[in-house]
Amino acid sequence: KLSKRLQMIADRVPVGSKVADIGSDHALLPTYLAQQGIIVAAVAGEVNPGPFEAAQRQVLESGLSKVIQVRSGDGLAVIEAGEVNVITIAGMGGSLMASILEEGKSKLAGVQHLILQPNVGEDHVRRWLLSNGWKLESESILEEDGKIYEILTAATVGTEEREALEALYDERLLPDGVTVSKERLQQMGPYLMNEAPEVWFTKWESELKKLAMIVDQLKLSTAEASIAKAEQVSREMQEIKEVLACLQ
Ligand code: SAM
Repeated sequence: KLSKRLQMIADRVPVGSKVADIGSDHALLPTYLAQQGIIVAAVAGEVNPGPFEAAQRQVLESGLSKVIQVRSGDGLAVIEAGEVNVITIAGMGGSLMASILEEGKSKLAGVQHLILQPNVGEDHVRRWLLSNGWKLESESILEEDGKIYEILTAATVGTEEREALEALYDERLLPDGVTVSKERLQQMGPYLMNEAPEVWFTKWESELKKLAMIVDQLKLSTAEASIAKAEQVSREMQEIKEVLACLQ
């Protein structure tokens, strides 16, 4: 049985897809997708030898070697352009995810859907999608074993639709006269902010605590850069608090 997190990712894979799961570790996701008949083919990519061998073993033991190819390599280097139409990347930081997509751009031809679950730094992923002509289609948030995860899905759009992508992050005016900046929307999620589910509040309350600790640390230093950074983070915290208060 898959974890709730991997199950939610699996639920977002269209039936009949050819999937590349990058950073597949034990290849649990492609194995499940193949067993359920959701996918017709998969590549499980891994850069580290331990997880690569675990993936190989899993696929062999499940008797799925005809459907899932386990390949060793960095990011999208494991696929050829046009080989898959869906890419899943889960369980790593958002900035690493954005750099994998950036470095693997030439492999994205023919890919229709990206299903991404960054552990932290979701804003890096949203910014990459926006700059590269991918429409953020959905955002989900879940809590499992005391951790909170976001799952972002994106689809390619034609050049004529590209201009409309920016609109998702247009500055917003919330009911109490609170303005939400583009940066805050990219950080907190444009759809999640619309839905404002309970666990999203929990996440941002805990993020505020982390930011407060950062400010405390910065305030220990008298260096100009630290003071400026402390002020910037304090402003960021203020904006987050206003958004939360307004939507609660
Ligand atoms: N995707 C699985 C999940 O969500 O449960 C496994 C997540 S695991 C925490 C992250 C995996 O990504 C590790 O197995 C690691 O070796 C792999 N990884 C990290 N950087 C990578 C890269 N540049 N290319 C391919 N795999 C990478």
